[in-house]
Amino acid sequence: MYASTSNILARNEIGRVPISLLITIQILKYWIHIISLNEDRILYQAYKSKKDLDEKGHTSWVTFVRELLYRLKLKEIWETQYVCSASDLLQKVKHHLFTKYEEVCQHIHTPIAELSDGMLKVPVELYTKFNIPVKYRKSLTRIRLRSNRLEIVRGKYSKVPVGERVCKQCNQNNAFEDESHFLLFCGKHSKSREKMFQEIALLLPLFVQMTQKEKMYTMLVPPNAQIALAVGRFAYDCLP
Ligand SMILES: [Zn+2]
Repeated sequence: MYASTSNILARNEIGRVPISLLITIQILKYWIHIISLNEDRILYQAYKSKKDLDEKGHTSWVTFVRELLYRLKLKEIWETQYVCSASDLLQKVKHHLFTKYEEVCQHIHTPIAELSDGMLKVPVELYTKFNIPVKYRKSLTRIRLRSNRLEIVRGKYSKVPVGERVCKQCNQNNAFEDESHFLLFCGKHSKSREKMFQEIALLLPLFVQMTQKEKMYTMLVPPNAQIALAVGRFAYDCLP
């Protein structure tokens, strides 16, 4: 992947979430454990002094827990230092964190997000498990994650307005060069595309009758290793 590729997308591609979410859950679990201890325990005493410092304006992990509970409108839990059901609280916090994370994901534009009407798909993608040469799998990822050098990406860095990011490979009526132009239309790659489409149609006869959008989806979310290989090879050979 290029350094400019979104970390969020790269993580999503292998089904991982930011480690900060997992750390937050662990901190909360630890806090629940501490407040359930007897007050004469050394660990509880140490926590108590951290809490006192927090009240005096000193920041520590205790501050983090307090602010998290406040954000979740659970001020009462903090003030009473009592958790009725640890599993309910953890569930609530997990739900909040993951919902926020998904909201962030939805604002990232990729070919996949555009295909699914702005909703980013975040499951572990099947193609990452296919036994195909790494170079082809990487090329497929480059298309999926917009980690490539098509004009849609280049233009972002050279500050070309979106509408003017035209394909310099084919001169097809100033065609906008994004992943769908590359996979479906660009004249420069007609021969390679024809070969790829034939390979896919042999494996999936319905492919020839599909709409352009369905074809894009089949190529970007390949249902089997052979289709992933055909698309990956096309991308490897033709991506600028
Ligand atoms: Zn073109």
